[in-house]
Amino acid sequence: MTEVAVDLGARGYAVHVSPGAVETLPAVVAALAPPRAVVVSSPTVWGLHGGAVEAALGRNVARVLVSDAESRKSRRTLDRIHDGFVDAGLGRDGLVIAFGGGVVGDMAGFAAATYMRGVDWIVVPTTLLSMVDSSIGGKVGINHPRAKNLIGAFHQPRAVIADLSLLSTLPRREARSGAYEILKCGVIADPALFAAIARAPAALASWPGLEAAVTAACRVKARIVATDEREGGLRRNLNFGHTIGHALETVTAYRRFTHGEAVGWGMIGAASIAHARGVLPDGARAEIAAAVDALGRRPSLARLDDDQILAALARDKKARAGRVPFILPTRIGEVIVDPDVSTAEIRDALRVMGVGTRPEVAIAP
Ligand code: NAD
Ligand code: MG
Repeated sequence: MTEVAVDLGARGYAVHVSPGAVETLPAVVAALAPPRAVVVSSPTVWGLHGGAVEAALGRNVARVLVSDAESRKSRRTLDRIHDGFVDAGLGRDGLVIAFGGGVVGDMAGFAAATYMRGVDWIVVPTTLLSMVDSSIGGKVGINHPRAKNLIGAFHQPRAVIADLSLLSTLPRREARSGAYEILKCGVIADPALFAAIARAPAALASWPGLEAAVTAACRVKARIVATDEREGGLRRNLNFGHTIGHALETVTAYRRFTHGEAVGWGMIGAASIAHARGVLPDGARAEIAAAVDALGRRPSLARLDDDQILAALARDKKARAGRVPFILPTRIGEVIVDPDVSTAEIRDALRVMGVGTRPEVAIAP
């Protein structure tokens, strides 16, 4: 069992990482001594792994099951979760336990943040992405029909329990999606982590190096969040690969790429811009691109339009006067924020990435 501390003073907490970490749930809950606890999960996750939670907390633990489809990360589902809290008699001193991927965690955390002006919550993440990313840092929220994550809050959990054995059932593409975020942590702050994840096998869930990689990625995120809880500075570094990545998700209506795949493309794009600007040596640029590629095949960019991508970039939440700040690597393990990347530079990078090239003719097997 490894513990990573998220050092936020009175709001600080530990991330427990190990196969079988769910067994620590009774002790973590007992330490908080809530008179009532409610588990929020999805039918999929509860069907696969609810038994582990029941084994730890007993069969009578109250629960609310809601769909974890991204399209259901909505106000309507938030209502249902709050209804479940009321039905369970959850009081101000109660505890919410989020058990699922990032969708469940974001919704359950936001429900906890808004119920009775904020009740305690803990997270038991069940996807690789939620273990290394969404469960740490206290950003919680839901989507608005017109924009993702538009309604939200900061509400730090009291503990994160990352049980790697829950990943055995995760579809490979979802596991890879999380791996791109681990790779991102390597590029922004941890060369050894970068080297390790670049050599990871396709079967991530059974990779012996996974515990060390998850722990290292959690450390990177925990350190950044502890320095900059509300994203006034350093926390922006976590957006490496996300500028172009978000634009790719937008122009494909979130259907073509997983979030990680879009970020994978975005990291290649940002590295290409950094190299063209002369801040990143070509060797490091090539290493980043090769590490992204080594994680597996991503849907291609061939049929996308660079003008549409540029328009989506200009509409980015973080854009100022039509320009979005880019996080650019200067070497593996270090990034800078550049507020002044020009449209021409982005267009060049998109071309190098293969946006708008003629699609390859599929060859039948
Ligand atoms: P997810 O929650 O959408 O889960 C992906 C799929 O995996 C779902 O179909 C789910 O049912 C299934 N699943 C979950 N655990 C499983 C398991 N152990 N075995 C088999 N199937 C399992 O995906 P995600 O990538 O964890 O989360 C994405 C969400 O996280 C997005 O809504 C995103 O906005 C949010 N997010 C939030 C933050 C933050 O800081 N709060 C950071 C990154 C992402
Ligand atoms: Mg991300």
